[in-house]
Amino acid sequence: MSISRRDFNKLLLSGVAGSAFGLFGMNSKTFASGAARKHVVVVGGGFGGAATAKYLRKLDPSLSVTLIEQKLSYVTCPFSNWVIGGLKNIKDITHTYTALRTRHGINVIADRVVSIDAPKGQLKLASGKMIGYDRLVVAPGIDFKYEAVPGYSQKIAETKIPHAWQAGAQTLLLQRQLHGMKNGSDVIICAPDNPFRCPPGPYERASLIAHYLKKHKPQSKVIILDAKEKFSKQGLFTKGWERLYPGKIAWHSSTGGGKVLGVNAENMSVETEFGAIKGGVINVIPPQKAGKIAFDTGLTNEKGWCPVHPSSFESTILKGIHVVGDACVAGAMPKSGFAASSQGKVAAAAIINLLNGKEPAPPSLVNTCYSLIGPEYGISVAGVYQFAAAGIVEIPGSGGLTPLDASDDQLQQEALFAEGWYTNISKDIWG
Ligand SMILES: Cc1cc2nc3c(=O)[nH]c(=O)nc-3n(C[C@H](O)[C@H](O)[C@H](O)COP(=O)(O)OP(=O)(O)OC[C@H]3O[C@@H](n4cnc5c(N)ncnc54)[C@H](O)[C@@H]3O)c2cc1C
Repeated sequence: MSISRRDFNKLLLSGVAGSAFGLFGMNSKTFASGAARKHVVVVGGGFGGAATAKYLRKLDPSLSVTLIEQKLSYVTCPFSNWVIGGLKNIKDITHTYTALRTRHGINVIADRVVSIDAPKGQLKLASGKMIGYDRLVVAPGIDFKYEAVPGYSQKIAETKIPHAWQAGAQTLLLQRQLHGMKNGSDVIICAPDNPFRCPPGPYERASLIAHYLKKHKPQSKVIILDAKEKFSKQGLFTKGWERLYPGKIAWHSSTGGGKVLGVNAENMSVETEFGAIKGGVINVIPPQKAGKIAFDTGLTNEKGWCPVHPSSFESTILKGIHVVGDACVAGAMPKSGFAASSQGKVAAAAIINLLNGKEPAPPSLVNTCYSLIGPEYGISVAGVYQFAAAGIVEIPGSGGLTPLDASDDQLQQEALFAEGWYTNISKDIWG
């Protein structure tokens, strides 16, 4: 029997995302019986951390699981471009931890982890409380290399030139700036070099900002200054831009004038090799690195990301600590929410094996990234991944892209699938 990419993804997201665990040949009873009440602590309640916490409890209800998240609710980056483009409200992409606490028996603590003592197996919270663990999962997401863009800083990001690459206040700031911008001014998006969170994200953002401008500021356009020579789903984006927003989005590759030498927040300009460009709104997406707590704990390599064993997501630097999500080095997998949740499930299964004195089974991982170019114009890229000698690799022929010659119906369906994907993954993780 053959299984299509879409069928496979449906299976993984249909409440039996747990079906993936069939691959590990285990169920909750296998582990519930033999194990003493072990305590697993998860730091970070985003796609990676919340999925790990939930699936630890689903697979082995005898486990005690604590999730520590510094924010009271979580605003997803997925669909935040839709909010910026006026297609969704911030409430639509905000999730609480109530279900994890009440339905899944996870001890959710709203606090910030300030230090981790790996040899002692304990961590300290900003409130001063100490918490011990048998195994720890660190899923802190990303931090920014502000200093890599001369003239840019966290303060400037918070006041004048948002990155909006962590959703919430930054999303709303960029949206407000867009609304306040004069018709005829331009929006500049500075996209970083690889690797970074959500490779298609800057181009989806450009699309949905162009959608907003077309309606509300028809004399304005979007200029993308890119640190790269090519980008994710480039052919599909370019085709969509020509169809929906002709002349409205200008993309400059790194060697074609896109290299950013610095920003000037005073006169709202970006310095490039070809001179300064003024923007009514400037959105700098700086280069990234693993979240701060990963650095402070010594989990990062020289490139600023956390190397892990691909079968368990256990750190190759510190035993007993697993890292999932954007912060980890996951081979061919992109830094996406879907990838983070898939890694979280693999890590959960591996942790349960390890707590029971067993080796983690070879994992199977999955990712799909939908992007919206217009309200009825969606595209996607998907892949299934496995563990090989080289680390995590994509299984050849397992996924693929929306075809370049997709019909209008297919593109419209992709937009609908994107909505379905968001609803399902949100329920799967926080529901
Ligand atoms: C504009 C945009 C669009 C995107 N669209 C998509 C998409 O369509 N599909 C997709 O799959 N992905 C998408 N992504 C990527 C996705 O958002 C990330 O890959 C995903 O959020 C990574 O999950 P994570 O758990 O690693 O990190 P996060 O989601 O960032 O979660 C980390 C959490 O850890 C918490 N934390 C950090 N440090 C501490 C600490 N010391 N103590 C306590 N808590 C801490 C943070 O508060 C945060 O809640 C998009 C990203 C962007 C920017």
